[in-house]
Amino acid sequence: MGVISSISQHPNGLAPSGSPAAEAQSITGRPYLSWTQVSSYQQCPRAFAFRYVEHADPDFVPSSLLFGSAMHEAFAKVHEHDMEGLPVPSSEDLAGKVSNLLNSSLLPVRYSKGESAESLHALGQRMVDAFLAAPESKPEGQPVCIEDRASGIIDPQIPPIEGKVDFVRLTKDGLVLRDYKTARSKWNPDKVEEGAPQLRLYATILNDQLDGWRKITGLEFVTVTKAVKPVVTLHPVEMRQESVQACIDQIGAVWDGIRKSVYPTRPGWPCKTCPYASKCPAAIKHAGASDES
Ligand code: SF4
Repeated sequence: MGVISSISQHPNGLAPSGSPAAEAQSITGRPYLSWTQVSSYQQCPRAFAFRYVEHADPDFVPSSLLFGSAMHEAFAKVHEHDMEGLPVPSSEDLAGKVSNLLNSSLLPVRYSKGESAESLHALGQRMVDAFLAAPESKPEGQPVCIEDRASGIIDPQIPPIEGKVDFVRLTKDGLVLRDYKTARSKWNPDKVEEGAPQLRLYATILNDQLDGWRKITGLEFVTVTKAVKPVVTLHPVEMRQESVQACIDQIGAVWDGIRKSVYPTRPGWPCKTCPYASKCPAAIKHAGASDES
C-alpha cells in the first residue's frame, strides 16, 4: 500500500508478442521475473523448475518461510498504523499474526529441529517486543509505501523485474528504501554487502517509476535476530551503480538459463528445506540449513 503504488506500473498487461515478457509468460505464466524467482534459480535451478515451470505440488511449506512472512506483516502493521495516524499496535496483536499465519497454512508446515508452533509464537513475541522498543519502529519521516510491488524494465533483453518493497519513507533529504530481514545472527559488513544488490536494484526500479517526482536517496536494511534476546540493527547501504550493473548481468545469466531450460540439480543445504525433495533424485538428506528471510 502507499503513494508509490499509485504511480507504479505492474507488468500484468498483455506482453508484446516476441518480447522477453511474452517469453517469460510462456515459460512461467508470468510476464516478468521476480527477485524471488531469480534467487530461487541461483539457489537451485531444478527447484526453480519444479515450482515455476512445472508448477509441481510442494510436499510442505518450511516454517522459516511462513515465519519470515509473518514477521514482515507485523513490521508492516506498525508502519501502517503510523501512516494512518493510529496508535501503535500491541505486541500481543502483532505476535498473534505469527501464529495465525502458521496455523492457516493449507500445506503441512515443516518445522526445524526443536521448533514448534508454540516456540515460534514465543519467538515472534520476543522479536516484536524488541522491534517496538527499537528506534527503527518509529523512523524519522512519513511512510509512503509499505509492502508493495515495484516493477520495471532494467534491460530490454530481460523481462521486467518485479520485487516486493518492504518500506519507503519520505524524509527531508528524499526517500529512504528499507528492507527487513529476520536472521539467525547479527549481520556483519560482508553479509550486508551480499544483500545490498537487491536493495540497489529496487532503488533503480523505483527511481525510474517515480520519474522525477522524488528520488530514493537512502537505502537500509533492518535486521532482527531470531534469538533469546532479539537484536534490532540498522545497516545503511551505499548506492553503487557498478553493483546494480553486476546485478543486472547476473539476472541476465539467470534469464538465459531459464529461456534455454537449463535446470540442473544443485544438491546442498537447500535440500533440507526443499518441498520438492521427494521428487528429486539428487536430494541430499540431513544437509545444513540457512534460516534467513
Ligand atoms: S532436493 Fe536439492 S537438488 Fe533437488 S531440487 Fe531440491 S534443492 Fe535442488
